[in-house]
Amino acid sequence: MLVNTKEMLLAAQREKSAVAAFNVFNLETVQAAVRAAELEKRPVIIALGERYFSTVDAEGFSAMVRAIAAKSEVPCALHLDHAYEKQSIVRAISCGFTSVMFDGSKYELEQNMALTLEIVELAHRSGVSVEAEIGSVSRGAFSDEEEGDGRLTDPAEAKRFVEETGVDFLAAAIGTVHGMYAGEPKIDLELLARIRSAVGVPLVLHGGSGTPDEIISKAVRTGICKVNVNTEVSLAAVAELVKFASSPNARQAHLSTVMAGLQDTMTPVMRKFVRLLGSAAE
Ligand SMILES: [Zn+2]
Repeated sequence: MLVNTKEMLLAAQREKSAVAAFNVFNLETVQAAVRAAELEKRPVIIALGERYFSTVDAEGFSAMVRAIAAKSEVPCALHLDHAYEKQSIVRAISCGFTSVMFDGSKYELEQNMALTLEIVELAHRSGVSVEAEIGSVSRGAFSDEEEGDGRLTDPAEAKRFVEETGVDFLAAAIGTVHGMYAGEPKIDLELLARIRSAVGVPLVLHGGSGTPDEIISKAVRTGICKVNVNTEVSLAAVAELVKFASSPNARQAHLSTVMAGLQDTMTPVMRKFVRLLGSAAE
């Protein structure tokens, strides 16, 4: 069933687990994410980035996800990821997304707070919850996200930000990167613990891909309730596609078979994250 993202994350926070938010952009990626969640009997967040609005019809996508979620055996939420434009947020709210992320991380704190507050007031009028980001997640390898400056989140700023904007969940920059790590990941779990004690809302970790399982588990135990995953799933599907393309009969294959195969490739990669996030507190 489709549920409110905030309620889903508050439930995760109570049981000290986290929900995977998969970046998706077509039917196969959505079905793989929902199937992975159903196999683990865990909730899931279907996340579409604003960047895909140029190629993915937002209204059509929302209708598709809502129909799949309605039939699903597990709670599903529909989230707009990394939106920089107010008009994208208005569009997502109008067509049934259950939460939106306003990314004002490139602005100074005061301006980020003012812009975020405006979005929170707008979204809450429609019962839609809001994620915001302070600090800035860097871009690693194979990512298609915007470049961030890698500034880590300051706990005192996070406290003020949440109090003054009324944001529902907060993306904390603690050293993870969008995409894969070029070297050793340097994740500041001590900083995460300080952010956790400064703010009460569920915290979000961007850049789940390539982060060692043990670090993800510790981050969940320290207060992360939502982990965004994109690149690791994409890399697995593309690797499978490349392998398939070099096989002798590739040119005779039907596209439907190729797409179904990619869905089957993505599902276990997503399932691994769903299981890890659900079991971190045990
Ligand atoms: Zn992100």
